[in-house]
Amino acid sequence: MNEIPLSINKASYHYGPGGAGIDDIELQCLEGSWTAVMGPSGAGKSTLLYCASGLLPVSGGSICVSGHDISKMHEKQLTQMRRDHIGFVFQDYNLVEAFTCLQNVVLTHLFGGPAISEEQAMHALQVVGLDGFADTYPSDMSGGQRQRVAIARSLAAEPDIVFADEPTGALDTHSSQLVLDAIDRIVQENRTVLMVTHDPNVAARAHRTLFLVDGHVHSVCEGYSNEQLAKELATITIVGQGLSQRKTKILI
Ligand code: ADP
Repeated sequence: MNEIPLSINKASYHYGPGGAGIDDIELQCLEGSWTAVMGPSGAGKSTLLYCASGLLPVSGGSICVSGHDISKMHEKQLTQMRRDHIGFVFQDYNLVEAFTCLQNVVLTHLFGGPAISEEQAMHALQVVGLDGFADTYPSDMSGGQRQRVAIARSLAAEPDIVFADEPTGALDTHSSQLVLDAIDRIVQENRTVLMVTHDPNVAARAHRTLFLVDGHVHSVCEGYSNEQLAKELATITIVGQGLSQRKTKILI
């Protein structure tokens, strides 16, 4: 595995000429690190996640995933990179209701995902604490359990990096904690996690939190409690646009 599986180098993306997006973002994510991304609505959190995972092409700068510059890749190469190195967890799980948990994890290749062995799938379900639910259908599970199946699916191909977009956004506090425990175990397996969240309680579980304002890096907070993160977010939200000109920092 690469020591810096994700390297975002002065990355920019704009929705149309002069439009909003992200600007000059610098971020290095180490192996086995967990980074949360926070900021007011419209700050560029999703755009950053999509650019970092190759779902959106950067218009400036570069993105290196596991040592490969994905910003110069064609769609076919990108698809291969995503299969081999990247896992993605969405807020709304995206499970196939007609499949059992195990089938949801094994059969990702039907939807363009990688080929997964039953052994890999069972390991992934074990990591998220659902190995006893292999034959259960999503309709018989809670939202938190469904999200953990989605996490197992993203994990099964043993990606270097897992991108998570508001993974607990639709969950109650208890279910959120179980999902975050699952993400914690991913990190303990030495994978790298980049996660967007609006919730300081969720971000507090990560190793550090990157705050974005108006598409720029505003600050990076390491070892902050949920109260401290909430305070930082409130300050940013109040000050708003005035901070957009701050210099980008290099983060490790
Ligand atoms: P966040 O995830 O922090 O809420 P986004 O990354 O979704 O922010 O959006 C960043 C900026 O880009 C916002 O100003 C938003 O309005 C704009 N934006 C997002 N998606 C589009 C789009 N498809 N077309 C035009 N502008 C967009």
